[in-house]
Amino acid sequence: MPRQSEGALAASRRLTSALLALIRTNQADTRADLAVITGLSRTNIAERVGALIDAGVVVEAGPGRSSGGRAPSRLALNPDAGRVVAVDLGNREGRVAVTDMDGRVLARTVIEGGVARDPDSTLDRVAEAASTLLKGPLSEAPLVGAGLGFPGPVQLPGGRPVSPAGLLQWDGFPLAEALGKRLGTEAWADNEANLTTLGELRRGRARGAQDVVLVKLGRGIGAGVVSRGTLHRGHLGGAGDIAHIPVAAERPRSCSCGRTSCLVTIAGGSGLARTARDLARTGRSAVLREIAGGRDLTGADLTDAAREGDAAAVAALREAAEHLGHVLAPVVNMLNPELVLLAGPVMAAEDFLLPFVRQVVYAESTPLTTRALRIERSDPAGNFGLVGAALTVIDELLSPERLHEWPSGSIWSTRPGS
Ligand SMILES: [Zn+2]
Repeated sequence: MPRQSEGALAASRRLTSALLALIRTNQADTRADLAVITGLSRTNIAERVGALIDAGVVVEAGPGRSSGGRAPSRLALNPDAGRVVAVDLGNREGRVAVTDMDGRVLARTVIEGGVARDPDSTLDRVAEAASTLLKGPLSEAPLVGAGLGFPGPVQLPGGRPVSPAGLLQWDGFPLAEALGKRLGTEAWADNEANLTTLGELRRGRARGAQDVVLVKLGRGIGAGVVSRGTLHRGHLGGAGDIAHIPVAAERPRSCSCGRTSCLVTIAGGSGLARTARDLARTGRSAVLREIAGGRDLTGADLTDAAREGDAAAVAALREAAEHLGHVLAPVVNMLNPELVLLAGPVMAAEDFLLPFVRQVVYAESTPLTTRALRIERSDPAGNFGLVGAALTVIDELLSPERLHEWPSGSIWSTRPGS
């Protein structure tokens, strides 16, 4: 084969990666489909697909649709080309999973001690849990990468947390590198709201949408932005961090970031727990005072009290929803999403939150941005943080820049079908 210029080689790699993307997303499942969609010659397609099959990334998965005559063989991503470790770190626990190359969770477990502990011991536990999961039948495919979601801002590229509020021992910690070293593979780290958004976009209720804002309401608050079908991470990875936007709270509260009246102090899980304790302590909620009897109240207790008809709890949840709405209205004006998805454990209080978030956003955003806007709750059973972590890894490994390294780096060095 003749040597080719770097530019031609890069173009050729982009082309092969694009064919793989069409197969991965089920937009094309035969060589004939690929030829129709791309306009490339059948010989060119056959050579590139042959190389993908030789690399083990694509498999022929039985007969495809026939347009008369012999049915062509159906092409599919080989889910067993490799295994990916996906990690979703919470405050007091972490979820660890192993997925196939399609981002499907094959096994998962929960570890005690999330980011409330120090980085090294937390990652030791993550690595131990991942190694246990990877034993047995899952060890039949090689581990090809790991992805981790962190509940705070993460600088990209590189995957280091930057000034995470209340988690200062994680500030600047080389998260991706340290995880990769422990697992003996390459690793990526990103903000968990970004990863949840990616999971929702590809496998959840945001599938098929082009412009989306996802808000994750857990102990803290994070948000992910999808613009024209692509996750928008911003210049350094900081896009979507709405937790510390100040709101006009009736009773200003100090925040773990050092300032006061941040959205998270009212509408985050920890803020709602604080509200529950206030209502119990001051006697404004008889139900919460009774629940409190000797234990620490949580945000979930506030929801339980609201379900029992406790007026103070209902009003507190409404106030939290309205503050979230005040923050989201300018976001909607700025980005004009078709869908705002509200995710995370706090959304167990959906009935008490969603109507008021909608009310405020529809009242405060412009007519054009709200004309076709849906504001919905995400599927709580989705595991989208883990799925998004895995898909981040898989997207990287199958990108035009990396695909030729799969699995040994030799087969893409020539341009097929020139
Ligand atoms: Zn703050």
